[in-house]
Amino acid sequence: MKIGIIGGGITGLTTALALQKLGISSVVYEQSKELNEVGAGIWLQPNAIKILDWLGLKDEIREQGYELDKMEITNSQLVPFKKIKSKVVQDEEGNKTIAIHRARLQKVLYNKLLESNTIELGKKYKSHNVESDSIQIEFENSSDRVDVLLGADGINSKVRQSIEPQATLRDSGQVCWRGVAKMTLPDELKDFGREAWGNQIRFGFSSINDEEIYWFAVANASHRERANKTGLKQYITNMFQDFSPVVTELIAATKPESIHQGILQDLKKISPWHHHRVCLIGDAAHATTPNMGQGACQGIEDAYYLSNCISASLPNAEKAFRVFEQKRRKKVDSIVNTSWQIGQMAHSKIGQPIMKLMMKITPESVVSAQMNKLYTIDK
Ligand SMILES: Cc1cc2nc3c(=O)[nH]c(=O)nc-3n(C[C@H](O)[C@H](O)[C@H](O)COP(=O)(O)OP(=O)(O)OC[C@H]3O[C@@H](n4cnc5c(N)ncnc54)[C@H](O)[C@@H]3O)c2cc1C
Repeated sequence: MKIGIIGGGITGLTTALALQKLGISSVVYEQSKELNEVGAGIWLQPNAIKILDWLGLKDEIREQGYELDKMEITNSQLVPFKKIKSKVVQDEEGNKTIAIHRARLQKVLYNKLLESNTIELGKKYKSHNVESDSIQIEFENSSDRVDVLLGADGINSKVRQSIEPQATLRDSGQVCWRGVAKMTLPDELKDFGREAWGNQIRFGFSSINDEEIYWFAVANASHRERANKTGLKQYITNMFQDFSPVVTELIAATKPESIHQGILQDLKKISPWHHHRVCLIGDAAHATTPNMGQGACQGIEDAYYLSNCISASLPNAEKAFRVFEQKRRKKVDSIVNTSWQIGQMAHSKIGQPIMKLMMKITPESVVSAQMNKLYTIDK
């Protein structure tokens, strides 16, 4: 069976690796002509790390990234709203969150796939046609034929447009800036990931290796136009000048041209994710706002569950897709909805104090049980 995967992002590459691990070959078609060193950082939580470990990649990712002891939500002076007593937050197997530069993660996945020659660059998907015994794919300058097609082409998925043209994106009304600063954090800040909340603005950061810090800043979308006029770096610096001095130091240590700007969106629920022998995965199926840091982690979970479902149902792809969605639906929907609510509450004058109160009064044992549930992966 020939499986075609559109999109060589985190989801597409991990899915090809997971299929390969189970002895099933696939081809990834990526529109970019080369793997660019783009993007800022990403937090991979223990649910994703468990799967990357299954793929034999955990050690390399840990070497290329930075293991974090815990994540905290704090006030603008970096004082946590709730002091977590445990020194380290990890899953039952001892997996912690790893922060890594996106380009480095992409490279680890890509290099592993190159060993088996299953990726084709410069292939921009345009459309497909499901025929009785195969699927014809049209790219910008060529075509190919596969038995099964997976759409891993991200939040603006063209594959999704073909099978679910009514799907729409939901605009959160928030803008996000991301950057990587060349500096090291003072010892007391080094080993945690933090998100500091001010008045309808947020600033998150963590080490991604010994000499680079990933940061992101979130504000209401009305700031975007003003920021573009002033210049992003100056505008963000002014916006966060009342925060802990580390925040403005991080912005100062970032090259202005490397600051990324984007509106935060998610995908309104679509169901089912599949149509005949075509299935959507990752952001193409269930893009979420980043407030739980779970978007890519869920793409990695898709890779694990889908590859196992395909392996168990061979050669019946439609059955595999049905079982896959049954397994994934509840968790994915809950993450997309909770993440949306966190983002809306964090930027609302009434919502933010309620969230802070909830964080303060929720016992650590309850938070820990919720995290363990989030990090659980079926064997
Ligand atoms: C500000 C922000 C912070 C985030 N932080 C985190 C975090 O800390 N942790 C986390 O888990 N998640 C995080 N996420 C979410 C995460 O970035 C996404 O969920 C993840 O990148 C989705 O991966 P993907 O492979 O499904 O899609 P993408 O990363 O979008 O990859 C899609 C791939 O498909 C290719 N492609 C697109 N169209 C075509 C076409 N027509 N033909 C061929 N190829 C095509 C693209 O070039 C790309 O390589 C964050 C998101 C944002 C916006």
